[in-house]
Amino acid sequence: MPSSSRRKVKIVCTLGPSSSTEFQIGTLLAEGMDVARLNFSHGTHEFHARLIGSVREAARKAHRPIAIMQDLQGPKIRVGALPKGGLELKAGDTLLLYPEGSTPKTSTHGKILVPISAEIAQSVAADTQRGARILFDDGKIATEATQVSGPEIVADVLIGGRLTDHKGMNFPGTPLSIPCLTEKDLVDLKFGMDHGVDAIALSFVRSANDVVTLKEMLRKLSPNPPLVVAKIEREEAVDARDSIIEVTDGLLVARGDMAVEIGAERVPIVQKQLIRTCHELGVPVITATQMLESMIHSPTPTRAEASDVANAVFDGTDAIMLSGETASGSYPAEAVRTMSRIAIEAETAREMNSTRADIQPLPGSTVDAIEHSAAMIARHVGAVAIACITHTGSAVRTLSRYRPETPIVAIMDNEAVLRRLSLSWGVRGVLVPKIGSTDDLFTMVETSLLAQGWAEPEDLVVITAGIPTLRRGTTNMAKVHRIGPHLGRS
Ligand code: PGA
Ligand code: MN
Repeated sequence: MPSSSRRKVKIVCTLGPSSSTEFQIGTLLAEGMDVARLNFSHGTHEFHARLIGSVREAARKAHRPIAIMQDLQGPKIRVGALPKGGLELKAGDTLLLYPEGSTPKTSTHGKILVPISAEIAQSVAADTQRGARILFDDGKIATEATQVSGPEIVADVLIGGRLTDHKGMNFPGTPLSIPCLTEKDLVDLKFGMDHGVDAIALSFVRSANDVVTLKEMLRKLSPNPPLVVAKIEREEAVDARDSIIEVTDGLLVARGDMAVEIGAERVPIVQKQLIRTCHELGVPVITATQMLESMIHSPTPTRAEASDVANAVFDGTDAIMLSGETASGSYPAEAVRTMSRIAIEAETAREMNSTRADIQPLPGSTVDAIEHSAAMIARHVGAVAIACITHTGSAVRTLSRYRPETPIVAIMDNEAVLRRLSLSWGVRGVLVPKIGSTDDLFTMVETSLLAQGWAEPEDLVVITAGIPTLRRGTTNMAKVHRIGPHLGRS
């Protein structure tokens, strides 16, 4: 068994030019990728269609249920095309920001022209007040708005630097009224649905309502819609975090934009708050951005990065994410291997994983009571696995909340639902043919665990299931089961 399958925390890898062939994707998978993220801020539909095909093929060959997460760009405001080599901006320079493709109406005299995303310029300018800060390139260049007229903004440079094509812009402290699904996002979303993505990450969420709107839209398009993952990266979303977590299927701690929007010094605290609430409510949470940033150019991480990955594990995150490290870096396989090793080491230090013990079952919930007990029984009897037979995956997500030491195995007959569980802490999955009678169930669990090498004859396992109906939300039993000695060694 590769060591990465001992790991409980999941690894999300962003795919891109450094990880675009089926061979490269197969390598990431072998190193421990659980979820493939497609970043729709970059790449054509044709490129993403090829990535999706390659992920599905590599996952099939490896017999692993890998989820594909489509990350929509959202209303990210960007600089347009600039002269070759970019612009050297100095403190004291005056910029004129105008919609790309239009002719500025404001006097251009003494100003440096900077085109910005045309489709959102008008809305953004309408929200911008004089004195508002406008940042470029992850906050490296800082300016202040001095004049707004129509879709055009005049801004003074406070901190200069070289500005190049298509760099991102942030308006910290300015609540933006632009919806978090742009025209481009709607087109991309249709593409994602047509290609059967498993999760959709929504960028620059402002409120629970943004999440609900997308979920309603997806339900109209599909009876079995993908998970919605809310990316928390704006001040408004940080403020509304509890109501967002109530309604979302998953959450992404988007530390890159978040640091620019709210200040890097607040990010570690917000990370802990978000992870804690998600963990309490059983919502899978991904910690993202710059986790092993230096590995874009180096085969080894910095000490600070190793600590960052370990601390996200200690915080109780379900998943940790690689961005440029796997998408465009020089060492994608090394980055996944390194992340996996750090995570395993962190998980082994049980006394550091302080959040594990405090989660209690919700009063009155049978599924909660069964899964909470299953975790305890498994520990007491020394079971090698807790096998959850489930149709919707909700029993498995419930069990995952209790962060049991014993591996969680989802036994499921629906491949799409099984793939979605690859975002949840500690869950491994086995796809089985249609689930039938009770006796068959136990045989099926035995066969599946033996085939995967997750149990040996005579091992004890705890099985949870809903008997007899196996309908949605019916989990009502836990059984301690000894794998038949007659089954022989696999
Ligand atoms: P992005 O989101 O990589 O799509 O910008 C993550 C972040 O902002 O941290
Ligand atoms: Mn972002």
